[in-house]
Amino acid sequence: MIAFSFTENQLAVRDMAREIAQKIIMPDITEYDRSQKMNPRLLPAMAEANLLGFCIPEKYGGLGMDYISLGLASEELEYGDTSARVILSVHIGLFSLPVLTWANEEQKQKYLVPAAKGEKIATFGLTEPSAGTDAVGIKSTAVKDGDYYILNGEKMWISLADMADYFLIFAWTDQEKKKKRIHSGLSAFIVERDWEGVSTGSIHGKLGVRAGNTGYISFQDVKVPAKNLVYQEGAGFKIAMFCLDQGRYTVAAGSTGLIRACRDACIKYAKERQTFGVNIEQHQLVKQMIANMEAGYEYSRYLWLKAGWLKNQGKRSTKATSLAKWIACREAEAAAANAVQVHGAYGFSDEYPVERFYRNAKGASIYEGTREIHTIMQADYVLGFRQDKELERDLPPVEQ
Ligand SMILES: Cc1cc2nc3c(=O)[nH]c(=O)nc-3n(C[C@H](O)[C@H](O)[C@H](O)COP(=O)(O)OP(=O)(O)OC[C@H]3O[C@@H](n4cnc5c(N)ncnc54)[C@H](O)[C@@H]3O)c2cc1C
Repeated sequence: MIAFSFTENQLAVRDMAREIAQKIIMPDITEYDRSQKMNPRLLPAMAEANLLGFCIPEKYGGLGMDYISLGLASEELEYGDTSARVILSVHIGLFSLPVLTWANEEQKQKYLVPAAKGEKIATFGLTEPSAGTDAVGIKSTAVKDGDYYILNGEKMWISLADMADYFLIFAWTDQEKKKKRIHSGLSAFIVERDWEGVSTGSIHGKLGVRAGNTGYISFQDVKVPAKNLVYQEGAGFKIAMFCLDQGRYTVAAGSTGLIRACRDACIKYAKERQTFGVNIEQHQLVKQMIANMEAGYEYSRYLWLKAGWLKNQGKRSTKATSLAKWIACREAEAAAANAVQVHGAYGFSDEYPVERFYRNAKGASIYEGTREIHTIMQADYVLGFRQDKELERDLPPVEQ
């Protein structure tokens, strides 16, 4: 049964993330969002608070916390700003948990331990200039040459591209399967920033997540040691889908935090702003918008909690995670649009945070599976076109 209360450890993680949101993120977020730069104090503060590895087992440098804690931290960080939650999504959801699940012991010691301790930053590179949703449309290749694979390709829209030390990269190792678009020709590799032929750059002029780094990576004849292949040749697609199950979970919980931030901003404003001689909180149509935010917040939260509960049990959570991500992002977009509305013209300026919420909410309906893909997935589950079978490997269950 899903618990409706949290353990002391879960609450401690929540409070730590809340403190970072309140003390590090929120005081200067408007300036960093305007200047499209990441607050340089954020990553060190998250590392110092053990927020970069808390749900990785202690034997690999983490704190051994559960996946509900990961959801709680995501919610709190995104209450501050989406860019902070994105760090959890890529560093833990899309890199560390997949490495914990799929990598061998040598790879875990070399890459997972420093990532979990917050000494190194990691991200995930699947998307390319010509392929996002259509993962088998990627063009990157990794051709075996003795003890190496020669990696060539371009990755686009990669969170933390200009900051990460390690990249979990997907490329074709079977060129015949590439031509025929057979996904078992894709493989996953851990690539280091410092290797010759790796270069990155930042994307400027983004609609949202402006206080976060998003960029591109270029690989030109990069010699990737064969021992950096994750799991086995041809396993790249299933590893990528597994990564998304964890990343999407953090997006679902984070978007739930964004809905709460919209609700709280509106409560404050509706108690201050007057029209027709009364605070706008008295107008029924304003109340309706705030009531919808509350409803969206509550049910988005139950949905990510259900996915987190399944993960804690070591049960497959693809359907539950997709539903939680789809609904939380949909509700966050609606809440942010209404939050601007409640603020009237002031909502249209960055004097108030709601215009940032509005821009940030849009991104989450695109990354980690677009709104359309999750809609199709949910229909396919109930129509019987799709089902969650037990995975060859899944997250290790965690004691709460
Ligand atoms: C801020 C940000 C951060 C990101 N971070 C990362 C990252 O760290 N790593 C990474 O690998 N990627 C990252 N991405 C990329 C993201 O995952 C892709 O943008 C996403 O998968 C969508 O791909 P696309 O942009 O190529 O859109 P497309 O796949 O070209 O889709 C375009 C439109 O067509 C629709 N569509 C496509 N196929 C179908 C279909 N079969 N049925 C119905 N509709 C369909 C889509 O829903 C969408 O509306 C990031 C993106 C953003 C915006």
